[in-house]
Amino acid sequence: MAEQTLANRHAVVTGGGKGIGEAISRRLAAMGASVTVIGRTPEPLRALVEELSSEHPQSFFAAPADVTDEALVESAFAAARKALGPIAILINNAGAADSVPLAKMETARWQAMLDVNLTSAFFCTHRALPNMLEAGWGRIVNVASVAGLTGYAYVTAYCAAKHGMIGLTRALAAETAGSGVTVNAVCPGYVDTDLVAQSVERIREKTGRSGDEIKQHIAEQNPMGRMLTPEEVASAVTWLCDPEQAMISGASLPLTGSEVF
Ligand code: NAD
Repeated sequence: MAEQTLANRHAVVTGGGKGIGEAISRRLAAMGASVTVIGRTPEPLRALVEELSSEHPQSFFAAPADVTDEALVESAFAAARKALGPIAILINNAGAADSVPLAKMETARWQAMLDVNLTSAFFCTHRALPNMLEAGWGRIVNVASVAGLTGYAYVTAYCAAKHGMIGLTRALAAETAGSGVTVNAVCPGYVDTDLVAQSVERIREKTGRSGDEIKQHIAEQNPMGRMLTPEEVASAVTWLCDPEQAMISGASLPLTGSEVF
């Protein structure tokens, strides 16, 4: 059993029902945190909460909400606080990727990428930070991407949003320095989740190449030649949540197995 370094802490994970968010929720639970999982689809959230509740003594809560809708975020955080108490840890993980050449990008598609990958983090942080400042302790981890550190063709909106998330991380770390709250970002390369599976499908439809060939090509874009697992990302995220990591704030940690540039 993992050391219970997060016992009696309430963690909120957005997009917590699958992929990287699910792995983070499981790992936070193993470290003793009570976890609220937020996501759009209620069923997987409830199934995960049921499973975690059967495995751990602390409590868990499912709060279905679209994180791009400020009113829904407000109600989800109010319900989470009512269920599990003040929020000590926030993982801004919900996100989505869309690819299109900029010349063909419609404003609505641009805005949707900024809403889900950047503004959602503001909505959630705005609701969680006051609890952390009041307690004099808190951890915020933003799941950005290597697309927040460097440019990639055909994903301008995603890259702009993830670069924005790193700016948010740096500025909020400066604002909260000395308060007991740390704010960091992780920047994974390609991770084996549905998000990549959807990209593979889009490329397959456009090019007619086989899914396996495309997946292999994507894996080779990562310096270590393979995709990360969601658990590898979760390990870095939860390490940043550990009470011992009080001196790391404003960092954007590349998870690529190498240098990014
Ligand atoms: P995923 O598609 O498996 O999971 C995304 C999660 O976000 C899902 O739970 C989904 O329900 C949730 N979500 C999406 N839009 C939402 C909304 N409007 N409201 C509430 N929840 C919403 O993808 P993943 O790979 O696990 O992605 C998680 C995060 O990791 C994202 O921010 C993504 O940008 C980032 N990331 C992924 C990769 C990768 O290669 N998979 C690489 C770098 C960064």
